[in-house]
Amino acid sequence: MFEAWQDVLRRIDEEVVSIQRPRGSVTLLAVSKTFPADAVRTLYNHGQRAFGENYVQEFADKRAQLVDLADLEWHFIGPLQSNKTRSIAEGADWVHTIDRLKIAERLSAQRPDARGELQVCIQVNVSGEASKSGVAPADTIALADALVKLPRLKLRGLMCIPEPTEDRARLAAQFAELRSLQQALKARGHALDTLSMGMSADLETAIREGSTMVRVGSAIFGRRDAKH
Ligand SMILES: *Cc1c(COP(=O)(O)O)cnc(C)c1O
Repeated sequence: MFEAWQDVLRRIDEEVVSIQRPRGSVTLLAVSKTFPADAVRTLYNHGQRAFGENYVQEFADKRAQLVDLADLEWHFIGPLQSNKTRSIAEGADWVHTIDRLKIAERLSAQRPDARGELQVCIQVNVSGEASKSGVAPADTIALADALVKLPRLKLRGLMCIPEPTEDRARLAAQFAELRSLQQALKARGHALDTLSMGMSADLETAIREGSTMVRVGSAIFGRRDAKH
């Protein structure tokens, strides 16, 4: 796992250098879903700080086992149902998957004062697949405008999961759409610094299109079982 993690860090660094972006401008989010708390602890001890989880219960269990790691940063990157927001509002540092105002309102209302602002990204459905979560690109600005009025959330940027395809040009176009939406939001005065895009198989393409945070699971931790 250590070697695989080092390989991913190297892939990120090589891509960043090859397109002449500043070194360190892309954060690695280690997606630990389905892997045990011990795996997270091991990687933490090597220096990894940001970890991503997809399932509310699994997140709550793992967080409880790792509370002693004070500066570990938890990112929730899974689908959110409105009846399950509380443990996320209390335990997460970031949420990448906001796609409707109702969820954002609940997270803001349930965020404990002592935890400070919850850092959030809006998930955009850039592929237009009916099965995908995410707000439609055309509705992103309205959601952002409403979201920034909520007191305990801080809008940091946008996130996408493009369609699974081997077609690099198609993938790149979907990443580019997220980036152009981010630019439109910036032009409206939203101070955004995050584009959460790119996974094990496509992180280079995502970085080339402007990603600032790649979410990488299997390339670090190994294959997950089929149900995930
Ligand atoms: C599982 C998951 C990842 C990591 O995917 P890999 O292909 O294993 O790197 C990234 N983002 C989201 C939203 C995920 O659910």
